[in-house]
Parts: sequence; structure tokens; C-alpha cells
Amino acid sequence: MMARMLALLLLCLCSVPAFAASCTGKGIELQVLGSGGPETQDKRASSSYLIWQDGTARVLVDSGGGSALRFGQAGANMADLDVVLFTHFHADHSADFPALVKSSYFEDRQRNLPVYGPAGNASFPSATAFLQNLFGARHGAFRYLSEYITPGAGSYLLQAHTVKLGAHAVRRVFSGAGITADATTVIHGSVPALAWLVQIGGQRIAFSGDTNGDNGNLEKLAAHADIFVAHNAVPEGASGAARALHMPPSVIGRIAATAGVKQLVLSHRMLRTLGKEAETLASIAQHYTGPTEFANDLDCFALH
Ligand SMILES: [Zn+2]
Repeated sequence: MMARMLALLLLCLCSVPAFAASCTGKGIELQVLGSGGPETQDKRASSSYLIWQDGTARVLVDSGGGSALRFGQAGANMADLDVVLFTHFHADHSADFPALVKSSYFEDRQRNLPVYGPAGNASFPSATAFLQNLFGARHGAFRYLSEYITPGAGSYLLQAHTVKLGAHAVRRVFSGAGITADATTVIHGSVPALAWLVQIGGQRIAFSGDTNGDNGNLEKLAAHADIFVAHNAVPEGASGAARALHMPPSVIGRIAATAGVKQLVLSHRMLRTLGKEAETLASIAQHYTGPTEFANDLDCFALH
């Protein structure tokens, strides 16, 4: 009898979705799928975020290496997503997207899935070219999945949207099913890059993406955000290429303060910032005194 009860208990525990451990399945929740940078030795999935509404995964921001596994561990389904937003096309922000698309083959998705990302340049594809380069029937790396960009060929289509913006524009580029997504250009060296603001269920969630924070756009985009996810890729005092690409903590703090965000979440943690959390918090606190948390993979932040 006891053995049977134990077996039943174990069965119940195993069938509980993984996201139940951190997300509650109620209201709007931000789940960090990948809190790391490009280094495998940070032992984190690379950049990716999921926005849940009442236990349904609705918005995916980036899909860096390792994040497809976290997507599954979170209990999310590709069939549920309303929109995918890319900040840029570095591998640590986009490499797992084909894995997610292939996974969706085994789900019953019938609705098209809009995918937004930045414009291209000589070194990076636009969002439209990115999907063509992955799934194009003739030359795509994963041309065996070309049904996802070929009208009439499969159960649903990935609908590519390249976001072209003026230097200081903040523009709404997606609106549907109670979700809006506003984009602005941010500076990440020579990489075309966007920051995003998602509004859903009365909540505002801003994502810096990778940026040096120097063009003044994030302050506008993230104004009064309920959560501002900022990338903690370099320590205070960083110089050269690292500083040209990324925000040191003092810049994150200044932007968070200027924007008046209600909560700051620090992600994209790398070996050069891991272990320096106290120093990072001190630099941020010189400007921003609101709640600040360091993200780990699968952490879930409830918005009220
Ligand atoms: Zn990155």
C-alpha cells in the first residue's frame, strides 16, 4: 500500500510542469530562459526571455544557444507564442531558433508566427534575410524546414518583419491579441541592434538587448517600465571593445533612474561580471535605488 502511494506521489511530482517551480501560471510573468553571455563556461544558457500570461507563453525575446532546452524546461510550447522579437543576430541571441522551429513540428500550431528583428548590414542579415538564410528552400542551412517560410507548404508560416528605424525613433511595430511591442535602435558596435518594450496585461517590460547605452534611446523606450531587463556584460571600468559594445553598471543605473523603472533585472552575465555582484550593485546604486536583481536561468518575475 505504501509503495503504491509512493509511486503515485512520484508520478504526480514528475508530471508537474517545470515552470511551476518558479512561475506561478497567474497573471503576467517574465521568465529568464538564458541569463548568460556567449561563453559556455558561464554555465548558463545564452540570452532568451519568455513572457507568460496566465500560464501561456506568449512572447519570446531572443533565442541564444542553450535556450531551447530552457524553453522546454519552462514548460513552454511553440504553439502558444504570439510573437518572437530578436534584439540582434549574434549567435548568443539567435542560435537556438532553428531548434525551436523544428520542435514546433511536433506540436499542433496552425497560426502564423510573426518574427521581428533589426535591419541588416554587410556583416549581419536583416530579420527577413536571417529566416531566408536558415530556412530558404534553395540555399537555407536548414532548407529541409523550408515549409515554415513557404506559403501553403506547412501548418504555419514564420512571418519575417525587418524593423527599420530612424536613429532616435521609438516605434510600435507589433500590436495584436492584447500585446504591443515597441522598438528602438541601440548601439552595439557595428551590429544592427534593437531594444524592445513589450506591453501586455497592463504591464510594461523593457529589454535593453546588447548595447553600450550611449544613444539616449533606452531611457525613452523603458520609461516607467515595470521591469527593465539590462545586460550586465561588462564590469565598471571596462574599456576598448568591451565598453564600445556594452553598458557598464553605472550606465545601467543612470538609464534605469532616468527612465524611472520600477524594477531592474540584470542578465547576460559573463565571466567578467560574475563574482563582481557587490561592485556592480554599488555602481548602479549611485544612480538607481529601486529593486535590482541578478537573473539566473529559469528565474521568474511576477508583475503586479
Ligand atoms: Zn550578447
